[in-house]
Amino acid sequence: MRYLATLFASMISISNASAFELRNGDLIFQQACSGEAVGNAIKNVTESAGDYQFTHVGIVYIPDGKDSIFVIEATIPEVRVVSLKEYLFKKSGDGCYPISVAGRVKQAYQHCISAALQEALKLVGKSYDYGFALNNNKYYCSELIYDIFLKANQGDPVFELNKMTFKQKDSDQTDSNWIRYFSEKGLAIPEGEWGINPGAMSRSKVIDLLGQIQYSATRRGSSNTICGLLTDSLGRCVHYASEKDIVANKCFVCKKYYACYQCHNLCENHPLRPWPVHLNDSSQKIVLCGNCFQEISYQAYSRDYVCPLCHKEFNPKCSLHKELYFRFER
Ligand SMILES: [Zn+2]
Ligand SMILES: [Zn+2]
Ligand SMILES: [Zn+2]
Repeated sequence: MRYLATLFASMISISNASAFELRNGDLIFQQACSGEAVGNAIKNVTESAGDYQFTHVGIVYIPDGKDSIFVIEATIPEVRVVSLKEYLFKKSGDGCYPISVAGRVKQAYQHCISAALQEALKLVGKSYDYGFALNNNKYYCSELIYDIFLKANQGDPVFELNKMTFKQKDSDQTDSNWIRYFSEKGLAIPEGEWGINPGAMSRSKVIDLLGQIQYSATRRGSSNTICGLLTDSLGRCVHYASEKDIVANKCFVCKKYYACYQCHNLCENHPLRPWPVHLNDSSQKIVLCGNCFQEISYQAYSRDYVCPLCHKEFNPKCSLHKELYFRFER
């Protein structure tokens, strides 16, 4: 997990996206790092939402409660279910991790999600579709998502297909990476065939992009950092993103502030160790307010569940699991 340190350093730019929690059926679009060959080839011939260049997509699957978030993806060699951790922290090209951006199908299609996930689970183990063909019992990433929503919506497509092209943008030349790719596989280039790529899916009118999953939040003028799978600059995360979920807690082992214990346990190689608190000693500052980025003591935090420095309200429900973060000593 040493690589995470590099990751944190390289992904500090905070999007102004608003906070969101990951839900069942959310899509996570990924943009591979620049050193990744197939990723580069995809970027050369597809268009994504915003300034992104997506190369992959998977669907969030949360079987029971937020303690276990999985992603179902069609990847090499087959369709599989992986933990969120494995999905986000897969190494790409030059040893970095992909950029991950969450999207949500619009309200009108939310009723499809449970059936779509059931369809996805039935396809686990199906081979990866190197030839990007529809209806051949093999799947590539965005085809899997297209297909499960199609089935869940009684055969009426939720996403639109496009005619695939492997030509460089604004050119009549087939991209040299794709020529090599298809010749290595012994397959004809499916130029002009119907398909759907992750970039096109991200631009679909049935998708709202929620924002990028960031790995740290910092604030100008503060030396403090909040770590986690963050969805905004106040330290809210994919697990807890209500208005008041702006408190970060410190782990006694790594001494880092994390948005929540699940984020910590996904990003570190040890479980979060609660910080020892002496109730008659309020000199230790071990809670970080995500609004003002200042540190406060347990006593100051728990007095009214309001930041004593910036007066922003905290979530009082966090006290229900305070033992996860604090060990109370006499
Ligand atoms: Zn730790
Ligand atoms: Zn979290
Ligand atoms: Zn504050």
